[in-house]
Amino acid sequence: MADRVAIWLLNDLRLHDHPALQAALKAQPQRIEFVYIWGPPVISWGKYSYIPDFPGVERRISLARERFVLESLLDLARRVPLTILHGEPDEALPAWAAAQGISAIYAHKEWAVEEQAYQQAVEAALRQHNIPLLLYEGNALYESAQLPFPIEALPLLFTRFRQLVERTVQVKAPLPEPSLPSQPPNSETIKWIEERLAQLPPLHEKSFPFQGGEKAGQQWVKKYFTHGVFTYKETRNSFYGETFSSHFSPWLAVGCLSPRWVYAQLREAEKAVRANDSTYWLFFELLWREYFRWLGARWGRRFFAAGGLRKLNLPWRRDETLFRAWVEGQTGYPIVDAAMRELKTTGWTSNRARQIVASFFTKNLFLDWRWGAAYFETQLIDYDVYSNWGNWLYQAGVGTDGRGFRWFDPVRQAKLYDTDGSYIRLWIPELRSLSAPRVYMPEPPLRRSLSYPMPVVDWQQSLAYAKDTYWRAVKGEPKGNQLLKLFQDE
Ligand SMILES: Cc1cc2nc3c(=O)[nH]c(=O)nc-3n(C[C@H](O)[C@H](O)[C@H](O)COP(=O)(O)OP(=O)(O)OC[C@H]3O[C@@H](n4cnc5c(N)ncnc54)[C@H](O)[C@@H]3O)c2cc1C
Repeated sequence: MADRVAIWLLNDLRLHDHPALQAALKAQPQRIEFVYIWGPPVISWGKYSYIPDFPGVERRISLARERFVLESLLDLARRVPLTILHGEPDEALPAWAAAQGISAIYAHKEWAVEEQAYQQAVEAALRQHNIPLLLYEGNALYESAQLPFPIEALPLLFTRFRQLVERTVQVKAPLPEPSLPSQPPNSETIKWIEERLAQLPPLHEKSFPFQGGEKAGQQWVKKYFTHGVFTYKETRNSFYGETFSSHFSPWLAVGCLSPRWVYAQLREAEKAVRANDSTYWLFFELLWREYFRWLGARWGRRFFAAGGLRKLNLPWRRDETLFRAWVEGQTGYPIVDAAMRELKTTGWTSNRARQIVASFFTKNLFLDWRWGAAYFETQLIDYDVYSNWGNWLYQAGVGTDGRGFRWFDPVRQAKLYDTDGSYIRLWIPELRSLSAPRVYMPEPPLRRSLSYPMPVVDWQQSLAYAKDTYWRAVKGEPKGNQLLKLFQDE
């Protein structure tokens, strides 16, 4: 029987479906401590971080995300003894564990480069004190051993991955929330979190009411699964509203929700109400999340490289003026600007909006896609290393998109999914007096009179340049529906 063990929390801020916690309980310890590091790799950059050199970086996480993480920690701190440490994990954690007489530390295995570097450094430093770091898989729908291929043979196309897992693997039932030995909460931690939270600005009035924490996340899932999910497939490409998409992403990203628990709830909702294309589509999207996790695991450093998985040598621009125009929502393309202003103000924007702005960034501004990904990292309330960098790779044409060069026409997209222009008007006060279709791309004199900027690039010309440059780097556009030969060196 172990005396005292600890759970090192990272992106798993919950008690349900927590394999590391369940493993710790099997050792029948007298006390279980929970510990979170207010430092790298989530809160700030540190010695093992990939620090992007994009202009004007100050904070690693946005205030919206900081609030969400703190709320999630508070939810836990009120239920279990939680200690918050500061500094580099491989220094702070071993020192604390040794001083506390901790006999083993349990955590969830991460797959991305920086996270792994930290886990390895912590493991080595703990070894000096004879304290083992025991890592378990969590935070995914499948365990690596369930996958019908080794990680190194992960399919290069999502569709292939999806077909294989759907055909051969069952999502395991989530582990229940365990009953823990009765232990008083750590009042100092609670006080620290509450004081820090009090200093943060409240949620923006136009933001979805994100509230961090396992309980809040579970409540929202249950609510969404009584109504919104049944029309998800038809509404998911919209730009705003409470139920057009699930808004589960921040809870999944910090691990307040386990994807297996969400999946189990989805199956329950299908039984209780009905299964339809929309309920399937939510699972489909969770599979995208899953795919990017394993892609990050497979590709290590290349997941973050300029040439991406394809090692394409593209002359990405590093133009700070264009970058700033994009960041500030001043590109002169109303749908792009609305999305970028929403992102900056709330820490969230819809999937369709993310695709449009990432496409504009890489196919029209032709800026180094890593600047865009890094900026998203510092802003998103739901930042997730695998989903963010995996989607950016995909949008930049250096990831796993079989079509290679894909682009979005921002005006067409706005007409399709912001049918009355209300999303643009919501975020761009300069254009508030305009109705559709004029609001999608106002004429130059109107822009001047409304103090709305001229387009920073000509859409057609910039796209033609990017397209030509891209296909030259790839050495030829594939004919017909022939898929691009994805990885030329494999
Ligand atoms: C450039 C770019 C960057 C992105 N960065 C992130 C990120 O850092 N964190 C993040 O969680 N998602 C990211 N996404 C994916 C997607 O945009 C968000 O997951 C989604 O918009 C969150 O809203 P939702 O929870 O309402 O999603 P829903 O549409 O309701 O989908 C349900 C869940 O499925 C998953 N999901 C949906 N679409 C995707 C996708 N394309 N890739 C991976 N998972 C998906 C998410 O976990 C999501 O919560 C990014 C997409 C793009 C194009």
